[in-house]
Amino acid sequence: MKPWNSRADFSEVPVAVTIICPRNIPGTAWTHGAEEGWLLLKGPSSEYWFEPWIACLQEKGVEFHWQKPLTKIEFDGTTILSTASGDETIVGDYYILAINPFATAQILSKTPELAKLEVLRLFTPLVQDGPHTQVSFRVAFSEEIHFPRERMAVIVTDSEFNLTLFAEEQAWNKDVDLGKNVKSLWTGTSCISSVPGRIYHKPVNTCTKEEFKEEVKAQILRCGALDEMIREANQGKALKDFSMMEIEVWHEWEFSAEGIRPYQPKWVNSTTTQHFMPPQTTPLANLFLAGAHTQTQTHVWSIEGAVESGRRAAKAIDPRVAVIDQYIPGWVRVISRIDDLLYAVKAPHVIDLTIALLLFLGLWFLL
Ligand SMILES: Cc1cc2nc3c(=O)[nH]c(=O)nc-3n(C[C@H](O)[C@H](O)[C@H](O)COP(=O)(O)OP(=O)(O)OC[C@H]3O[C@@H](n4cnc5c(N)ncnc54)[C@H](O)[C@@H]3O)c2cc1C
Repeated sequence: MKPWNSRADFSEVPVAVTIICPRNIPGTAWTHGAEEGWLLLKGPSSEYWFEPWIACLQEKGVEFHWQKPLTKIEFDGTTILSTASGDETIVGDYYILAINPFATAQILSKTPELAKLEVLRLFTPLVQDGPHTQVSFRVAFSEEIHFPRERMAVIVTDSEFNLTLFAEEQAWNKDVDLGKNVKSLWTGTSCISSVPGRIYHKPVNTCTKEEFKEEVKAQILRCGALDEMIREANQGKALKDFSMMEIEVWHEWEFSAEGIRPYQPKWVNSTTTQHFMPPQTTPLANLFLAGAHTQTQTHVWSIEGAVESGRRAAKAIDPRVAVIDQYIPGWVRVISRIDDLLYAVKAPHVIDLTIALLLFLGLWFLL
């Protein structure tokens, strides 16, 4: 199963799958509480998370410098002296670099003495794959669409753009305004940008905005497994018979003749860069790192990873900060440990070995 930020190759498997977590069986609705498993906000993230959070921090005395990008870090060989945003100098007791790894690598390159320090020198190989194109969009319907289960997310695995879909009304408070006349609001992400679509035969990378939207619509509507689920939960009504009001692409993406471009480059995990993810601490006592591209127990470039990294950076400054360890089932820990040992001796993956062993035992039993 490929997540929303997958770099995996396009798969031909013609199914839509639901993400099933152990807590999810047999299909209870989303819950919103600490340590509840996969958490979702009760409304749009800015309104329900960032705006109240900024207000709370300002009340506690935090000063924000909006529209003042970090441009340089001043370093005297042992400690960070200050940071610069253009001509302006900003001085602090501690500095936490929490910007995307591409911008970090670029800023560090302006201070070579700093860039070559242990941990900080990981940024060049960390961004070696270049940015990843994952485009967010939302689909508005003027009718309510039910799903067979109350807790559901969909990966349209036969879609060339590797689409993921989620109906926000499943998780949002009932009083959240979905938009004028909007009764169902799906958010989605296209995760693969190099596979040509079925209408224009162009990959996301070279589509115009309109072509992208038409492709997304076609790929959603032609997924048989998704349609089957919708019919099952809506008295036999097909997905194509629900009135789709519009598909809107996240404003972060700019479509042009040269191809699609984000205002800020996106990083994702890959097997080539995994080894270069830095910890939150650096050799300098007043410089720390945070961001989903740093080492966490979440492991995946995600909001969860970003939050965990922030807490770990804060804990490195003040040990009183609590960081809740990720829950890893005992059997996963055991298998991981065995697999680490197999990897160390260049043996096949633990699952491959288990299958081979079972086949061997089966044959031996039969003969
Ligand atoms: C389309 C899409 C869909 C996604 N869907 C999900 C999802 O469903 N669930 C999930 O968990 N994750 C999702 N993610 C991933 C998630 O958004 C990221 O993993 C997460 O935001 C990374 O957080 P971060 O703090 O490391 O970096 P960012 O969120 O990139 O934050 C870095 C900040 O640094 C700022 N910045 C950059 N340069 C400078 C500079 N020079 N000076 C000052 N500030 C600067 C940026 O403006 C930005 O605010 C998605 C990502 C994309 C692109």
